[in-house]
Amino acid sequence: MHSIDLHTHTSYSHGADVPDAMFAAAQAKGITLYGFSEHSPRPLGFDYPNEYREHLAAHMEIYAQDVHRLQQQFPNQVLFGMEMDWLEGQLAFTKSTVSAYDYDYLLGSVHFLGTWGFDASAADWEKLSQAQCDALYERYFTAEIDMATSGLFQIAAHPDLIKIFSVQRFHRWLNDARHGAAHRDLVRTMLLAFRSNGMAMEVSSAGIRKPCREIYPCAPIMRMAAELGLPICLNSDTHCVADVGYAFPQLESYARAFGWNASVWFDKQGMHSQPFMPA
Ligand SMILES: [Zn+2]
Ligand SMILES: [Zn+2]
Repeated sequence: MHSIDLHTHTSYSHGADVPDAMFAAAQAKGITLYGFSEHSPRPLGFDYPNEYREHLAAHMEIYAQDVHRLQQQFPNQVLFGMEMDWLEGQLAFTKSTVSAYDYDYLLGSVHFLGTWGFDASAADWEKLSQAQCDALYERYFTAEIDMATSGLFQIAAHPDLIKIFSVQRFHRWLNDARHGAAHRDLVRTMLLAFRSNGMAMEVSSAGIRKPCREIYPCAPIMRMAAELGLPICLNSDTHCVADVGYAFPQLESYARAFGWNASVWFDKQGMHSQPFMPA
């Protein structure tokens, strides 16, 4: 089974468990390389309904110390990363945040359009028309392209997160008879931006646990990424011990179905490939 999990959170943001407990869960599940990728700080004004900004700020240094201690205790089994929010108009903040620590790798994530954290509330989406959703999908993939083009990140996290609360409307947008080809071109431009910036695309089991009930990204995006030869990471985006390595056998067979036979991981030396074990 795939045994690398590079997208994980702790109780220092809005997760449930401390780093030691998360790593112990990983060991118990046969994870051989565990990456801590806590959420990034965010500037005031980019707020979730249940905001954890102060809590995270108060624990950032403890988080770094915990992870570094685990790295010393368990050589070659622990990586120190961060899931950085890509926020429109916040490049200076982003650059200073990612250079505050010597990270092994950075996940780039679009969770916000403008100052709206779009992945927090289903109610935000229920009132939107198809046309309104379509505009948001375009804006989201444009932000993903900007994120990749910044050159700051190694892994593009949950590449179609925007579908989280509107998965049927999202697939309508992607497969629309008149405009679907142009929409898929926008997605392909994003994937090309990942590739030309040396990034891997995340395949995430978090989508299975969310209202969209499907892996991030969906099959049509997987097919395009496979055609482009994009490297992938298979991650859980866990926020608690129970979800470490969540549905990894399913993620691996999903990736295999599109032709991948390896995943990648990153450290300060760059990208490393790890073949899937023989099926
Ligand atoms: Zn995320
Ligand atoms: Zn995450």
